[in-house]
Amino acid sequence: MNKYFIFLIIFFVVANCSCTSKTSNSISVVKKNAGAVQTPSKQNHEVFQSDSIKKYSQLLKPLYVEVEPADLAETWRLPFGLPNRSDLNNINFISGFGAYRSTRVKGHEHSGIDIVPADKKSKLDVYAVSKGVVCFINQEAPVKTVIIKHKLKDGSVIYSSYIHLKEIYTERGKTVDDSTIIGVLYTKSEALKYGGNFDHLHLEIKKRIDDFSCASWLCMSREELDEYFINPSEFFKQHLLKISRKTAMCGSTSFFRCKTYWQINSKLAKLEGSNQKPGESAEV
Ligand SMILES: [Zn+2]
Repeated sequence: MNKYFIFLIIFFVVANCSCTSKTSNSISVVKKNAGAVQTPSKQNHEVFQSDSIKKYSQLLKPLYVEVEPADLAETWRLPFGLPNRSDLNNINFISGFGAYRSTRVKGHEHSGIDIVPADKKSKLDVYAVSKGVVCFINQEAPVKTVIIKHKLKDGSVIYSSYIHLKEIYTERGKTVDDSTIIGVLYTKSEALKYGGNFDHLHLEIKKRIDDFSCASWLCMSREELDEYFINPSEFFKQHLLKISRKTAMCGSTSFFRCKTYWQINSKLAKLEGSNQKPGESAEV
């Protein structure tokens, strides 16, 4: 009888442990998935909008149209016509997210990444980074801008913003995908006509659009920057991995590739942490 009683106790303990184990596994899976997609849906926009952004956004609002993407943005590519648009080794980083800016509005924080194709012979065409609909166009040189609205799997939206285009090849309301050329960059000599170093793409990933693009030069703190933007290099590292995991996973690729990946990371860390001053230009 005693043996039977002990057996019952052991049975219940084992069954309970097994159940707990299953629960914690399923929690870790959910957490993993939640971390894979950045969801800016729960935000109180009004609370965190500064007076300067509120004021300037009213001037830019007419350049925006409300759009509703029909398709989900599920795959992401780099915005140039590169041999491999999933490989960060194919682009050069000029300036990182959060870097100090002394021009336009002195002391604002850099809202995106400044990038060019690594191969100088590459075409300067700029592609959409994923499926979406064009919702904002500013034709004012040298800050000609296209913003695309993207719908994510969980129903939230984010925006990709492309600044310093020489020409714009798309229109508000147009549906685009990663094969759509939306504009072209300045060459070095063309950029000099505007008195600045605008021969790069300033690329942003925006959480919200109610600044109508003026947060690009009006965010004066990291907290404010994080209200409006996602670090594009982090975003692409995360989302391009889904397509080209070998690029970032040292264990499954060559030593050379692994070394290059860490060089990119270390270069980005220096750019993002620096107080670099971009010179006397009006770039964002
Ligand atoms: Zn920039």
